[in-house]
Amino acid sequence: MKQTLTGGCLCGAVRFSVKDDFNAFYQCHCKQCQQLTGSAFASNILTTPENIEWLKGESDITAYEHPAREFSKSFCTVCGSSLPFVNKTRTALIVPAGSLNELPDLQPQANIFRSEEACWLVPGLGAKNYSGFPE
Ligand SMILES: [Zn+2]
Ligand SMILES: [Zn+2]
Repeated sequence: MKQTLTGGCLCGAVRFSVKDDFNAFYQCHCKQCQQLTGSAFASNILTTPENIEWLKGESDITAYEHPAREFSKSFCTVCGSSLPFVNKTRTALIVPAGSLNELPDLQPQANIFRSEEACWLVPGLGAKNYSGFPE
């Protein structure tokens, strides 16, 4: 029996559950994912399109689809948090790792599009660490 994981957005408007039954976990460093996330890379976990139960707030979700290319993002219209979505070809449900409340069994398998890596990624990982705000 696979565990059930829960997830949702920061403001709490949207809640969902998924079975911990993922087939891929990628960290994508492409320029488009940098723009969509506002960060160095997107962490996406893939599963089957039917592996999701929306518990709350499905009507608060909106989606952006790139007109020409295979880029989409679903997000909460209240707080902007990334949320799961089914890809254009309807072959996979893409779950942003940060939208999950619990850890999936699967670990990241690959960093993809490293050729487009943000110039601050490696220097950033080497910067000073604090457990909260810098003193
Ligand atoms: Zn929200
Ligand atoms: Zn990408």
